[in-house]
Amino acid sequence: KTKSVGFIGLGQMGYPMASNLFKKLGPSKFWVLDHSEPVALKFKQEHGNVHVATKASKIAEECSVIVTMLPASAHVRQVYLGENGLLSKLQPNALVIDSSTIDPSTSKEVSSILEKQGATMLDAPVSGGTLGAQAGTLTFMVGAKTPESFEQSKLILEHMGKNIVYCGLPGTGQVAKICNNMILGISMVAASEAMNLGVRMGMDPKLLASVINTSSGRCWSTELYNPCPGVLPNVPSSRDYTGGFGVSLMAKDMGLAVNAANETKSTTLLASVTHQIYNQVMTTPGYEKKDFSSVFKWLNNNAEK
Ligand code: NAD
Repeated sequence: KTKSVGFIGLGQMGYPMASNLFKKLGPSKFWVLDHSEPVALKFKQEHGNVHVATKASKIAEECSVIVTMLPASAHVRQVYLGENGLLSKLQPNALVIDSSTIDPSTSKEVSSILEKQGATMLDAPVSGGTLGAQAGTLTFMVGAKTPESFEQSKLILEHMGKNIVYCGLPGTGQVAKICNNMILGISMVAASEAMNLGVRMGMDPKLLASVINTSSGRCWSTELYNPCPGVLPNVPSSRDYTGGFGVSLMAKDMGLAVNAANETKSTTLLASVTHQIYNQVMTTPGYEKKDFSSVFKWLNNNAEK
């Protein structure tokens, strides 16, 4: 009997991830669901033999393997535990993988609720951005109750990613992810401030980036995702900050880091300031839907006032 697989959340990341999963899975029934029905219908149109659901409970009824890729904790709660949510119709022994970046405590809580229903839920947030999602080269950071369930999830995740890392018990995948994104958020502000300063002092941005990238300031934000337009092709800064990783999602991730720091009484001074910066950027008119590297443009506009 062929297994049915479901995918919920076809956004910037989910769409290409689901596309890879569908193409590489082999014979199986494939179900999709997105809040925005046109997106789900576009997926069906592009891929052919796909079923579109309008409720998460339908996916739960039909599928023994389910992947979710949603914006934030509230959406995960709604899709899993809300009205017509997954929990209401979940098959016993279902394997559910949440790849959204959310609060580790929410992740742990939802996982233990599903477990009581006989299902297994893993947290498997990703790194690698939209390009990694398209290329199927994502890194998955996985929290799972048992090594066996981790091995089971690998058979699915390997169709969408290259590095699949077992981080420990449920919630630990989210811990790894928010620590990584805390560095990314801070380093993007640092890269933006430095590139902005250099350019305003008359330096050619491409030349400045190439010096930094062979010097000790080099990081992912300067080398692979430079926030200054024109330095790199195929990154959001070179297409007016469209596509990529939304500034509101980065603000959310910095907030997750700050919350976790408060819960554990850890000192994260730069994370707190950086959280405020992304909150400011995302509430500035014109920036709501931009990629998080638009902090470069925001800094420059601020300075010009
Ligand atoms: P997105 O906003 O582009 O996509 C989210 C999708 O979920 C949308 O299509 C939306 O319609 C759908 N959705 C929302 N609520 C829903 C519901 N109740 N039922 C069904 N569908 C619903 O976000 P994204 O950029 O794809 O990011 C998804 C997650 O991955 C986030 O947690 C983000 O932090 C994380 N992430 C993003 C990137 C990136 O580069 N974009 C990289 C790594 C991790």
